[in-house]
Amino acid sequence: MKFRMPLGRHVLVFTASAAVCLGADQPAVTPLPDDPACTADDRRFIARTFELARESTAKGDGGHGAILVKDGKILLEFQSATVSMQDLTKHGETGLISLASRTFGPSGFEGATLYTSEEPCIMCCGSIRAAGIHRMVYGVTAVQAHLVGGHPLPVHPIQCREVYERLDYPIEVRGPLMEKEGLQLTAEHAARQKAAHGAQ
Ligand SMILES: [Zn+2]
Repeated sequence: MKFRMPLGRHVLVFTASAAVCLGADQPAVTPLPDDPACTADDRRFIARTFELARESTAKGDGGHGAILVKDGKILLEFQSATVSMQDLTKHGETGLISLASRTFGPSGFEGATLYTSEEPCIMCCGSIRAAGIHRMVYGVTAVQAHLVGGHPLPVHPIQCREVYERLDYPIEVRGPLMEKEGLQLTAEHAARQKAAHGAQ
């Protein structure tokens, strides 16, 4: 059985047969299938972003990870650090781009791919565009993470692909990839946040 969730001009198609429950107090969310255009290297690098996300959660931070890859090699890594750096703009992607800018200069982004554990928010989409990155791969779909985290969806959620379409910015976007594993991390992060701050 399938059902569809309209998202602006896009539609997510869920396959109910693959539904999983990620925790006793978490809603059951069906992981979306992998983007078939993703490669074995893409899987390997997304797995690394999940490791960074787990480390970020363990430190009480935002629970996201991002890496910059060129020619099959990791140039830089960044864990979201909004808490530890006391900087709300230090998401995985923005933190990575800020660090890479200072490390390599603008030319460091030429031909690079940005991998991120979760589909980037609008702020991070902007930073990716500002950096001139033209390939990005994400693990977990943002609306899926919202659901697992127990957050209500916006009335009109927007996906990163639509952001770039509206900006007319040329970028190859791949994802979701390994969403089931990524959503389990999201559930762990949500449980930790709940334990730290109590039920909101
Ligand atoms: Zn962000």
